[in-house]
Amino acid sequence: MAARLDEKLEPIFQDVLRRNPGEVEFHQAVHEVLETLGPVLVKYPEYAEQKIIQRICEPERQIIFRVPWQDDKGETHINRAFRVEFNSALGPYKGGMRFHPSVYLGIVKFLGFEQIFKNSLTGMPIGGGKGGSDFDPKGKSDSEIMRFCQSLMTELYRHIGEYTDVPAGDIGVGSREIGYLFGQYKRITNRYESGVLTGKGVHWGGSLARTEATGYGTVFFVQEMLKARGDSLDGKTVIVSGSGNVAIYAMEKAMQFGAKIIACSDSSGIVVDQDGIDLDLVKRIKEVERRRISAYVEERKSAKYIEDGNIWSVPCDVALPCATQNELNGKDVKILLDNGCIAIAEGANMPTTPEGIQLIQAAGIAYGPGKAANAGGVATSALEMQQNASRDAWSFEHTESRLEEIMINIHRNCYETAEEFGAPSNYVVGANIAGFIKVAKAMDALGLV
Ligand code: NDP
Repeated sequence: MAARLDEKLEPIFQDVLRRNPGEVEFHQAVHEVLETLGPVLVKYPEYAEQKIIQRICEPERQIIFRVPWQDDKGETHINRAFRVEFNSALGPYKGGMRFHPSVYLGIVKFLGFEQIFKNSLTGMPIGGGKGGSDFDPKGKSDSEIMRFCQSLMTELYRHIGEYTDVPAGDIGVGSREIGYLFGQYKRITNRYESGVLTGKGVHWGGSLARTEATGYGTVFFVQEMLKARGDSLDGKTVIVSGSGNVAIYAMEKAMQFGAKIIACSDSSGIVVDQDGIDLDLVKRIKEVERRRISAYVEERKSAKYIEDGNIWSVPCDVALPCATQNELNGKDVKILLDNGCIAIAEGANMPTTPEGIQLIQAAGIAYGPGKAANAGGVATSALEMQQNASRDAWSFEHTESRLEEIMINIHRNCYETAEEFGAPSNYVVGANIAGFIKVAKAMDALGLV
């Protein structure tokens, strides 16, 4: 059960339910933000008068289109794709594209809604948007992926642009897909407009450290939360769900901070390696060979693979959900707490259910919500846009140090905002309120548009 809403906010939420039937993930994301905004309306009653919250809950534009493509055998397939341009008060719409069979409008809207506040927290001039398709990239050849991306971009190109809407990657979309998307955009528009997509390859306009940014940023955030409690990651055991882009680089940075990673997963099962996960092996299996995580135990005999295993049952000090939404529920949180877990930070978007969040907060352990903890990815996308705009390319070290500075600032902003609004060390309150106020001020300044 989610927490109750303030009496001014409940009717707004009821309206969101009525206007967006069946979009349960979107409802969940909106509810989670509204739960914390009561005190903001007390301090800033003008936001209620101007209906800022109602306006934020309604996307500025939603695009849904057909993507026809042919597989290697010549058979025709039809997928559906989405781009939800949610809020451009702070800058061009910015947010990734997700390719996964579970994608429908409700998923894209939850992600786009979250993105508004996350992008605001980065302090960069970027609005919120998100997109995706119900296309399943698993098991597809490179040529099939290319044909799909080209077909998708043949419609999407007319809606995006470096000053309009700047997509990037997400689940199922990495630099290979961004490459095919960019190639088709360039062909159709006859413009080498680097700033139209981020997450590009580093040899053709991408930023060094963008691949690592979301995972690294999540771990910088964890380190800051632990520091605020007089602790650090050094010597801690860590479990990470997923073994994709975010998971791999969260593991890498946690190891650099002296932690031991003992488990990771994919949607088929979990790998437990009490000697410490061999990250080079995970990278080869996932990034180069594009195989299942079960292949890990073929080469590391000491490790265990558990098909359909529950990663949260592996005792650890720190848990990092880095796979997908609602992957960590109340029952899982109880297991983590019973096993002595002291910190949870979300590399993924909305991975914890409302019940899970309530239990974590009641236990008082450090908890970094995705909006804040995984904002390093989009922040570094904004750094990629900066480099593209100035025709420059920064070193890995420079970009990583900017990322670290941004994550430290986000942590401080969330921490101080939570204190100011009477909820010390509650990063959910801090992230939602700090993210909201910046967008609300910009919407106020821009008038009723
Ligand atoms: P990837 O596609 O690289 O990896 C996703 C990982 O999560 C894979 O291991 C995948 O397993 C697993 N996974 C995906 N869907 C499910 C599911 N339904 N059930 C169980 N496991 C699943 O994606 P990313 O690493 O880029 O994204 C992971 C999360 O991080 C997402 O929530 C995304 O929105 C969020 N995020 C990503 C950012 C980025 O920069 N990439 C930025 C901010 C947030 P399998 O291969 O078996 O499907």
